[in-house]
Amino acid sequence: MRKFYIISLFSLLAALASCSRTSEQSVVSDRTAQVNVIPQPHHLQMAEGAFRIARDTKIFIDVQSDEMLRIAGFLNERLSSAAGFSLEISGTMPESDAIYFMNAGLPAESYGMNVTPDRIVIDYGDGAGAFYALQTLFQLLPPEIFAGSRQKGIRWEVPCLSIEDEPRFAYRGMHLDVCLHFFDIDFLKKYIDIMALHKVNRFHWHLTEDQGWRLEIRKYPLLTEKGQWRKETVVGSLKSGIYDGTPYGGYYSQEQVKDLVRYAAERYVTIIPEIELPGHALAAISCYPELSCGLEDHYETATKWGVFKQVYCPKETTFEFLEDVFDEVFELFPSEVVHIGGDECPKASWKECPHCQSLIRKLGLKDEYELQSWFVTRMEKYINSKGRQIIGWDEILQGGLAPNAKVMSWLGEEGGIRAAQQHHEVVMAPHQKYYLDYWQGDPDSEPLAMGGPTTLRTMYDYEPVPEILTPEQSRYIIGVEGCVWTEYMDSPERVEYMAWPRMCAIAETGWTRAGKDWDSFARRLETHFGRLDYLDVGYCDAFFEPYIVCHEDTRYSKVVTMSVDAPGAEIHYTLDGSEPGPDSPVYAKPFVINRSQTVKAVAVRDGRPIGDIKTKQF
Ligand SMILES: [Zn+2]
Repeated sequence: MRKFYIISLFSLLAALASCSRTSEQSVVSDRTAQVNVIPQPHHLQMAEGAFRIARDTKIFIDVQSDEMLRIAGFLNERLSSAAGFSLEISGTMPESDAIYFMNAGLPAESYGMNVTPDRIVIDYGDGAGAFYALQTLFQLLPPEIFAGSRQKGIRWEVPCLSIEDEPRFAYRGMHLDVCLHFFDIDFLKKYIDIMALHKVNRFHWHLTEDQGWRLEIRKYPLLTEKGQWRKETVVGSLKSGIYDGTPYGGYYSQEQVKDLVRYAAERYVTIIPEIELPGHALAAISCYPELSCGLEDHYETATKWGVFKQVYCPKETTFEFLEDVFDEVFELFPSEVVHIGGDECPKASWKECPHCQSLIRKLGLKDEYELQSWFVTRMEKYINSKGRQIIGWDEILQGGLAPNAKVMSWLGEEGGIRAAQQHHEVVMAPHQKYYLDYWQGDPDSEPLAMGGPTTLRTMYDYEPVPEILTPEQSRYIIGVEGCVWTEYMDSPERVEYMAWPRMCAIAETGWTRAGKDWDSFARRLETHFGRLDYLDVGYCDAFFEPYIVCHEDTRYSKVVTMSVDAPGAEIHYTLDGSEPGPDSPVYAKPFVINRSQTVKAVAVRDGRPIGDIKTKQF
């Protein structure tokens, strides 16, 4: 990723140069923006000069609360690590040469920032606003501020400007499935740190599945003693039929959960736990078979991905179990909203089960879909009685939506639209746009994934408020979420590769109010990569590479098309096997090749290659 350091340095020089002029910036279209903040602030105006943070600069906080001291501490943490000094936190107002945090009564999460040569004034209304101002401030400093060790010879300067910023959506979420593969608490803390840097404020923690139960529940110890384990895991795609023969497990103790919840809250991230029901319950059923319809002799945690017919049977034993589980969940998670899953619940067992069939008749329900709705509604009533709200995947719409439920729309936009029209709050997470387990580049050269491709640009361009909604209905779209299902992500490195930078695109959609500008985003991202490098985030840089597609034509030939998303880049290519470079022919339009030829292509900008060479053979 060496190239990004070069680009970062260039951007930094450009940023410094920009201080010599004044320009009005609008969110939508300003390509001359010389600061590179992601997500783009709502309103940003450049001015002349820069403020330099040095050893004798002070931090002034007008409210000496633990919260504000902690936020000032985050700034000192970075400075002491990257710059080798930290700043005095003052309760009396310095005359100048200080960073002033001033409570100006702004709305939740909003902030203003005014940088002049002798001071930085940050206006906020709540801790989140002050924290988000700080995230912006970090991105106004040289990328080296994110370094884990002292950086020599850096001027810690912030360009003069003024910013007024506020979020578009209240819910800006990122999901992680820790069931298909397990990730330790240290990695989750890093994940939350990177979310917070992007002003993402909801961590949707997918804790239970067919393939493993990951949350300690004291009343049901088998859930983690046994339910965390699967005897082996499918190798390659789920159709391979080949298994690794190695037991796989992992879970979080309640102490670890409390620690993570506190850690996230200090970074203004609410953790939304997901306890799946009525489907995706095989790990729990393998521990407590009485929770099932009892049609099988033996239940075992799943060893491959997919949907399984062994689901919770809606009987009193099951409700007692789930209510106990949620009681412990409520103790651990202060979130007002809990996720109850609700997706992919096959009806086969319920159709065969005498209890389920008699329940359908007794309750006067039409079918198993209405039974599912009854199941979810019954759980919702319990959860509401404890002062919490439920959110569930689209399928909770089947058979009628529970009264206060929020919907997380993953199947497409349809469910989200229907729910918003019925005045239920909706988080948009359509899999075609926001599933991060999909390919982000050419499947021929990217690691195994679940579907797609869904490129960085596809994610960036997605508009989460469907046009069909009236302005009144649109208000029920409360936000967006990127979903990281970990079928093929068996290491932290692989998660980061799939999640970033596509989550940057979702974060900007969730935060930035005024429209989209791909070129602006992509160019800001180049500086941002330098930050992620310092933070040791192993992102994917496929958007710098040509995307080569060979379309079937005749037995002897194919038609080749190529594209590249990086702004200002053109594609240079060869057909004779040699390495392409700036002097090779430029791709201008689709062409025909014969089957013995190899296409090699590279994206070039300003006379220099910007990404890796891509090769396509037949
Ligand atoms: Zn049953």
